[in-house]
This record gives sequence, C-alpha cells and structure tokens, in this order.
Amino acid sequence: MASATKVKTYLAHWFQLGKKLIWRDGTELLPTKIIEGDRYSKEFEECWQKIISINGKGCHLEGNTVTIEELLTSAWSIDDCAVCSMPVPLVKVGIQPLDCVCSDLDNWPNSDLPAPRSPVNNRMQLNNINARLKTKAEKHR
Ligand SMILES: [Zn+2]
Repeated sequence: MASATKVKTYLAHWFQLGKKLIWRDGTELLPTKIIEGDRYSKEFEECWQKIISINGKGCHLEGNTVTIEELLTSAWSIDDCAVCSMPVPLVKVGIQPLDCVCSDLDNWPNSDLPAPRSPVNNRMQLNNINARLKTKAEKHR
C-alpha cells in the first residue's frame, strides 16, 4: 500500500511541475507554493488536508486516472519512474498502465530545470540524495 506520506510526496513533486489535481466535479487545484524553507507550505498542507478529509475520493492528478483513494489502497504503490525518477503510481496487482505521469509533459525529463523535491529537514533525506548520486555515478561508469 502506498502510505499517505508517499502519496503526499507524489503530489508535492508533480505540483512543482505544474500538474493540477482534478476533483470529481471537474475543479482543478494547484497550490502556487509547495515548499517553504524546510517544510511544506501552508497552502499545500491545506490542500492535502482537503484531500485526506475525503480520503482522496474521486480526485486524481492531471494526465493520470488513478485516484488518490486508489493510491491509498493495497493495489498501488509509489515508486520512482524509470524515465524521470519522479514518484509515480505502480500497480501491484494487474497490468501497469504504460504511460508515466510524465509522458504528457513535452520538456520532461529536463535536467536544466531544478528537480522537484521534498522539504529537506532531516538526515534521511541527505542519505537518499547520496544514494541517488551514487547510483547515478555507477551508471555512468
Ligand atoms: Zn516519468
């Protein structure tokens, strides 16, 4: 099961690339600021609370049909995209949809843009970054 924290990270990352959240009634939501210093912005937290208060029912990220509610079930997990290393939904049971959430972004992956991130506020984060850099370095060998 994708944990709430993972789903939250997933949203935060895609919001930073300008992906909107589509609600059941067709309303689109995109917080203008996601990260504030070493934490999530108030605007993003409020948006997240709104999503959680309805268990993510019927709302999904633009360009992807998986609802947040589905992501919070055991059928899904969230992992790094093979193409762009962004957090993406992965189906645990059944057939994985071929398209990554990133596939409808023309200029993505784009190494010229600052990569979306989570608020950096602990050692774990640093270790993650280190691990990533290490894998990258190994790939280039
Ligand atoms: Zn991707």
